[in-house]
Amino acid sequence: FQAAKPVLAIEGLTVSFDGFKAVNDLNLYVDRNEVHVVIGPNGAGKTTVLDLICGKTRATAGSIDFDGRELTRMREFDIVRAGVGRKFQNPSIYENLTVFENLEMSYPAGRKVFGALFFKRTQEVIERVEQVAQEIMLGDHLHRQADLLSHGQKQWLEIGMLLMQDPQLLMLDEPVAGMSVSERVATAELLKRISQGRSVLVIEHDMEFVKSIAHRVTVLHQGKVLAEGSMDAVQSNPKVIEVYLGH
Ligand code: ADP
Repeated sequence: FQAAKPVLAIEGLTVSFDGFKAVNDLNLYVDRNEVHVVIGPNGAGKTTVLDLICGKTRATAGSIDFDGRELTRMREFDIVRAGVGRKFQNPSIYENLTVFENLEMSYPAGRKVFGALFFKRTQEVIERVEQVAQEIMLGDHLHRQADLLSHGQKQWLEIGMLLMQDPQLLMLDEPVAGMSVSERVATAELLKRISQGRSVLVIEHDMEFVKSIAHRVTVLHQGKVLAEGSMDAVQSNPKVIEVYLGH
């Protein structure tokens, strides 16, 4: 038996801002079908890690292998095209368009059609939009204007917009912030569904939510990996307890 190669393999990743190492010699591996959650106190470097993966920030040293490609040398746009999707905390949906239109615009081929003078909705786009809308629990709201959706539904719509591009790795920054309890539960199920055949990398502070979704957890502290493993293992790790409770 040989373990499958991780989809994302980060090794020795370091970035310095004026000599301050926000991420310091980081190793992180994410497998296919995995929901991997990064936790850690404020300033630990979590956001910077996602910025490095999606090419928003350039690494000082180290490598990010994504499915055989070296991301540290690629441009942001090419990283998206290589199959990395990132959702930020504030959804960037088009409030005055419908759910259908938001999803349609995010389809790589659909975008060309949308920009064309003669707007044409192909069967392929319609089917993909309907499929994604079902997945994000908005199948019954296809023709609702986006600004009429609840906070949680808007977050799901943005996840759907990313899914239209069929990313192999989906990264989310605090996906349940501001959500109701029932929306949190539904989002946990959604992320687990999305991870099937893909990889999901999440930054999250809500430990109950982490527990409900994480296959593996990496704890960052001062730019370094403090602990890594199952939520149970990480939670009972004395070093982790000290960082969270010791100050
Ligand atoms: P987290 O997401 O875990 O709260 P961040 O990744 O946002 O942490 O930040 C890690 C550290 O790096 C913080 O001390 C932050 O001030 C610093 N930092 C992040 N981005 C920059 C930047 N562009 N320039 C200077 N310092 C930065």
